[in-house]
Amino acid sequence: MSNSALVDYTKISPNKTSPRNHKIDRITIHHMAGNLSVETCGNVFAPSSRQASANYGIDSDGRVGLYVEEEDRSWCSSNKENDHRAVTIEVADNAGGPEWGCSDKAMDKLIELCVDICKRNRIAKLNYTGDTSGNLTMHKWFASTDCPGAYLESKFPWIAEQVNKKLSGEEEPEQKEEGRNAEMQCFYQIDEQGAVYWFDGQKVHTLAHSDEKNVLNDIYKANNGKDMPFFHWQSKAPWYKRLLAAIDRVVETE
Ligand SMILES: [Zn+2]
Repeated sequence: MSNSALVDYTKISPNKTSPRNHKIDRITIHHMAGNLSVETCGNVFAPSSRQASANYGIDSDGRVGLYVEEEDRSWCSSNKENDHRAVTIEVADNAGGPEWGCSDKAMDKLIELCVDICKRNRIAKLNYTGDTSGNLTMHKWFASTDCPGAYLESKFPWIAEQVNKKLSGEEEPEQKEEGRNAEMQCFYQIDEQGAVYWFDGQKVHTLAHSDEKNVLNDIYKANNGKDMPFFHWQSKAPWYKRLLAAIDRVVETE
């Protein structure tokens, strides 16, 4: 079992059960109820009299502290069954209660750390269900506390969504959406010579000058963020004839 390579500061707490008795299949996100640096958080968990710890902490600068190695169970969520199977993360608040709040840097690093924990521990997906049947849990489900605080609590569905996007490699849904809605336009040329044709999505036009292609491409690119597709077809494999036939057929039926 490994620890995250995202760690900036390590101060191992004596408040832990070593080793944990369950494989890691959960993440529990807490808030510090204060704007603690990773060093200060480490000092809080350092005395054994404190009887509390977390695997990781993230401060408002987005720095990551390691206090209990992943192979060990932290004393964090007031529930030993949860903590034996969870990696626990404390996030600093940059605003006070009862609303609380976390910096963008801390939230970005939290997503990154969750993705890293899932990948290394082969957790395919963070499933936020709003109760303990899922694998993204909160402290308040196990004890009388408002942890993780109103702000972080409201972010749990979003956190799971962001982490899962990164785990599945779907990081840029906006671009995909755009591609799906893009018009079916293209340029094509036959046998790499002669006229360039422009299919505007409905009709084919023969372009008289290369600048016509350039200006059409500029407009297309401004709207779609990429060059218009340019196909090079062969007269012996006449895909352009198939295209023209399909276009004519549409016109006939109208
Ligand atoms: Zn907590």
